[in-house]
Amino acid sequence: MLGSMQDWPLVVPQILDHAMRFHGEREVVTRSVEGPIVRTTYAQIHSRSRKVAKALTRRGIKLGDRIGTLAWNTGRHLEAWYGIMGIGAICHTINPRLFPEQIAYIVNHAEDRMIFVDLTFVPLLEKIAKQIDVVETYVILTDKAHMPQTSLKNAIAFEDLIGNIDDDFNWVKFDENTAADLCYTSGTTGNPKGVLYSHRSNVLHALAVNGGDCVGAKSTDTLMPVVPMFHANAWATTFACPSVGAKMVMPGAKLDGPSVYELLDTEKVTITAAVPTVWQMLLTHMEANNLKLPYLKKVMIGGSACPPSMIETFEKKYEVEVMHAWGMTEMSPVGTIGSFKSGMEDMPWSEQLKVKSKQGRAMFTVEMKITDDNGKDLPHDGKAFGHLMVRGPAIARAYFKGEGGRHGTDSIVDKDGWFDTGDIATLDPLGFMQITDRAKDVIKSGGEWISSIDVENVAVGCPGVAIAAVIGVAHPKWDERPLLIIVRKPDSKVTKEEVLKYLEGKIAKWWMPDDVAFVNEIPLTATGKIQKVTLREQFKTYKLPTA
Ligand code: AMP
Repeated sequence: MLGSMQDWPLVVPQILDHAMRFHGEREVVTRSVEGPIVRTTYAQIHSRSRKVAKALTRRGIKLGDRIGTLAWNTGRHLEAWYGIMGIGAICHTINPRLFPEQIAYIVNHAEDRMIFVDLTFVPLLEKIAKQIDVVETYVILTDKAHMPQTSLKNAIAFEDLIGNIDDDFNWVKFDENTAADLCYTSGTTGNPKGVLYSHRSNVLHALAVNGGDCVGAKSTDTLMPVVPMFHANAWATTFACPSVGAKMVMPGAKLDGPSVYELLDTEKVTITAAVPTVWQMLLTHMEANNLKLPYLKKVMIGGSACPPSMIETFEKKYEVEVMHAWGMTEMSPVGTIGSFKSGMEDMPWSEQLKVKSKQGRAMFTVEMKITDDNGKDLPHDGKAFGHLMVRGPAIARAYFKGEGGRHGTDSIVDKDGWFDTGDIATLDPLGFMQITDRAKDVIKSGGEWISSIDVENVAVGCPGVAIAAVIGVAHPKWDERPLLIIVRKPDSKVTKEEVLKYLEGKIAKWWMPDDVAFVNEIPLTATGKIQKVTLREQFKTYKLPTA
């Protein structure tokens, strides 16, 4: 027997309609790419998104067409985003930090008919325009006054696209399983692969992210996603915030410490989210200038492991709660978040820090387990570590166009629906998960595994160390041994001996790096993670003193 409730499709436009009806006055504040701070509201965003939808329809864009965006977090990007999805076209967010050849590859692979592009990235697209002739029209996210001279095909200013159009438009009706947006991940091997979110998966994910134990933003909150919209929907905040009427602050192109601080402070941001490298820049700026953040309540940190020293600084020095989170583009992207369970508020800080340093608990809609190399389930005892497997309604079961499918199918999950995250992790009896490594980054020494993340987390707490990366280097006796690679803080002269002394007693003896190398820069991926592949290549012929 079926239930007799209303069939209310879970589609993204419902989110913006709700924001317009019940939070129309709530602000969306942007540091515009042109410079000034621009203030708008959900009512205005709703109206202008409908204009985008109407303009696209007039230009022949239809259900299922892909439209690219190469843009920072801004109000205009949000309008393009909802306008595209509102007619059942697919919003393909392009990561500008990818190599130009990769951008050309994904634009062609996605067959983007139009691209909405920020002024910043016009030169980048001009360089590859000949390789991406699938694109029929470029919409520059600006107004007439700021329109650049450009060779881009049929270029038009965003404000001109919607200038003479009214907002009398009804969102197109379609099934909730219709594709909504597309985000390529370069986390896998080979070419970047497209993760194709559906309207339903986005709505369910937004509801889960709004849970009290998750990000839990409320209408009274002001949330600034520093994490870009091209990094998995700005971690779902672009859907979660309008659905509860939280004010949004969009940082535009400026993600440096002083610019991020300024917005957090002047806009009285209560919740923010980004990768650890962004917070490192903010903390350095705050420490150098003796600044505080009286309004900020929570900072969500993920994308790569958050070092305990960073958690301690936020919590103890600045009284900001850290929510350590883990996820993947394939997971919409949030999988776990480290909010306390009952009783943990009363634990001593040293114990709390241990909990907070883990990647957190699965939120509802995410199932999680760990398995050994043969696919056998491992115990959730906090000790056994294995391949982290996930499944749920906002987790990919295939990549766009069936790339990377298993056994000649398009499926990327096993017969029971589990997706292998490529991460190695432990799960404790209370459900807290801790990543020890990416499977391809673990260091295999004498048949045992050394967690590069654990060593990095400790090393980065050493005074004078700005960034720490650990890779395995070939060793005649042990197969591989860890090499610690460090970028010093400006003006620091920290030595190998000082770093090794600092590590002593904080990690297992046999995990101690065999050597420490100092470099000026550590390569980061397009989503701000340490690029271990490049580092391993760079240190391929490195001779360890112990070899
Ligand atoms: P992406 O799809 O670019 O978001 O990358 C996903 C990968 O980033 C995961 O599979 C992890 O390897 C890594 N990652 C994300 N969050 C964390 C975290 N909190 N700690 C450690 N690794 C993380």
